[in-house]
Amino acid sequence: MIGVGDMVLLEPLSEDSFLENLKKRFDHSEIYTYIGSVVISMNPYRSLPIYTPDKVEEYRNRNFYELSPHIYALADEAYRSLRDQDKDQCILITGESGAGKTEASKLVMSYVAAVCGKGQEVNKVKEQLLQSNPVLEAFGNAKTVRNDNSSRFGKYMDIEFDFKGDPLGGVISNYLLEKSRVVKQPRGERNFHVFYQLLSGASDDTLKKLRLHRDVSKYNYLSLDSAVVSGLDDAANFRTVRNAMQIVGFMEDEVQSVLQLVAAVLKLGNIEFKPESRCNGTDESRIKDKNDLKEMCELLGIEQSVLERAFSYRTVEAKLEKVSTTLNVAQAQTKTRHKVMGVLDIYGFEIFEDNSFEQFIINYCNEKLQQIFIELTLREEQEEYVREGIEWTNIEYFNNAVICDLIENNKNGILAMLDEECLRPGTVTDETFLDKLNTVCAEHQHFESRLSKNSKFLTDHSLPHNCFRIQHYAGKVLYRVEGFMDKNNDLLYRDLSQAMYKANHSLIKQLFPEGNPAKVNLKRPPTAGFQFRASVSTLMKNLQTKNPNYIRCIKPNDKKAPHIFTESLIRHQVRYLGLMENVRVRRAGYAFRQTYEPCLERYKMLCKRTWPHWRGRAREGVEVLMADLQVPAEEFSYGRSKIFIRNPRTLFFLEERRRQ
Ligand code: ATP
Ligand code: MG
Repeated sequence: MIGVGDMVLLEPLSEDSFLENLKKRFDHSEIYTYIGSVVISMNPYRSLPIYTPDKVEEYRNRNFYELSPHIYALADEAYRSLRDQDKDQCILITGESGAGKTEASKLVMSYVAAVCGKGQEVNKVKEQLLQSNPVLEAFGNAKTVRNDNSSRFGKYMDIEFDFKGDPLGGVISNYLLEKSRVVKQPRGERNFHVFYQLLSGASDDTLKKLRLHRDVSKYNYLSLDSAVVSGLDDAANFRTVRNAMQIVGFMEDEVQSVLQLVAAVLKLGNIEFKPESRCNGTDESRIKDKNDLKEMCELLGIEQSVLERAFSYRTVEAKLEKVSTTLNVAQAQTKTRHKVMGVLDIYGFEIFEDNSFEQFIINYCNEKLQQIFIELTLREEQEEYVREGIEWTNIEYFNNAVICDLIENNKNGILAMLDEECLRPGTVTDETFLDKLNTVCAEHQHFESRLSKNSKFLTDHSLPHNCFRIQHYAGKVLYRVEGFMDKNNDLLYRDLSQAMYKANHSLIKQLFPEGNPAKVNLKRPPTAGFQFRASVSTLMKNLQTKNPNYIRCIKPNDKKAPHIFTESLIRHQVRYLGLMENVRVRRAGYAFRQTYEPCLERYKMLCKRTWPHWRGRAREGVEVLMADLQVPAEEFSYGRSKIFIRNPRTLFFLEERRRQ
């Protein structure tokens, strides 16, 4: 074992020794380390030979502590307790952008697929589950400054199993895609992968049918400075995605419809407007060059005059699109209860130079996940002591509830205030929203600081005039309010949705149901922020009903490069992820616990009375063993099914004795 495999056993324990241990292991390609049952995963930024079928076999049906730390051990544990103990599981993967969450989620899925069920039908389901990834990534991932394959949406996938533990299918929920990226990307970043994949991977014939050029520079929506990303083969990925779409269950004409839509978006981006003076002195917008419009209309089966009118006129404001959709790759749902393993992979915490509504939403989501980590690790720990009949007193732990409250409080939370401002009649702008924030939050802050000195809304006069700042659990973030109102309103003018609904194209029609004149709804649709808050809250409730398994991902450097361990960066992550507290909580109670049978099995050789065979109950065998070895009584407790060992030294002592 290189360094210490479980941080709980680290001696002496300090932030420095914690980092040293991580580094030692990282330098020896040991990217996984435990804190009890929590897996820390360091992004190696290179492919390691540790995900082979042999490795899968090695970890299959083995106990957590028997082998060196691996994400497979966590996946195995989760799958087995789902299958054998009928406990629904969730795998919660956290870490900042580029830390390796999406890769981790795929490793968990592929491990579970490898060890569960057999047979043709089951294999088909597995293939569908796994192949949903490339499809989702093509449309929802993009190259950012932080990550060449950054998830720009949150994803939660429930994998359903029957009573035997065979997979039945999955249900995927998506959370707030960063739509604004379609229109504009920050410097050095790209649009969603699918656009580049299509242009470089499609055949000449397909491109012709889609009225597209292969040349990326022909399209306004595709930024030029970073069209090609080293190590990313768009053309090959296009083939993977096409194939995956087929496996997931798209019919060929559906694939064509999707590609037509992608092409239409590119055309749309090339349409330019120019002002034209009217006789009453006002300006009217006119389309400059109609060729792109014409081709877009051909692709989507829309009459050109209809769309042209919709682009230029606005009648009444109407609905917005859904935030969360459900894609069902499952077989027909039956009424019987399925066992469920949920895998959550969201966009990681982001601090850019310029942070907007999207970062605000992304960081809020991470804040909630951190909160659930805090609640569940503590809760789980405490419940285990109660369950096992062990005495326990509560431990202080940093809690970010106050930050969540600042954002989501129904009355004076930032999202509520944003909604209020969006709905208020009169002249409302991003600036009036900011004024409101400053007034309300500053009061709140005053109030808070008298109570707890805990405010997380930071105002001072050094802030740029159009910004506000929040002290997130992971760092201070400066948000620029420009666009907040617009993005929260997320309005789609009725003229446009009605024009789209008139398209002779079944996919487009489905995407704009609100354009159906028979269904005109004058009620104001909920805002983007409101919907997001609601779906996050539903998700959190769902997660709390399941047994949590944690993967805490760490990004070793800012260069997307292998072998580089940037200590300051890692120290920061270790701090905000609360990993030290995690170890301390784990150690303050009992650092180590093990059910009686494997404990006896492992250490029975240390005692004449238990070696080689113990004929009684395992617990009694362990009692004999501990008495014989003269381990002081205050060092351990007997729970109902497990022995709890307080100090890692006791474990070292036992391990030491085994080696002698
Ligand atoms: P975001 O929040 O931006 O979506 P993320 O945490 O999901 O980020 P990933 O996309 O999973 O980050 O990882 C970024 C990149 O790091 C991957 O594309 C891959 O190159 C590399 N990487 C991550 N984990 C591993 C691993 N276990 N082995 C090899 N490379 C990895
Ligand atoms: Mg990701």
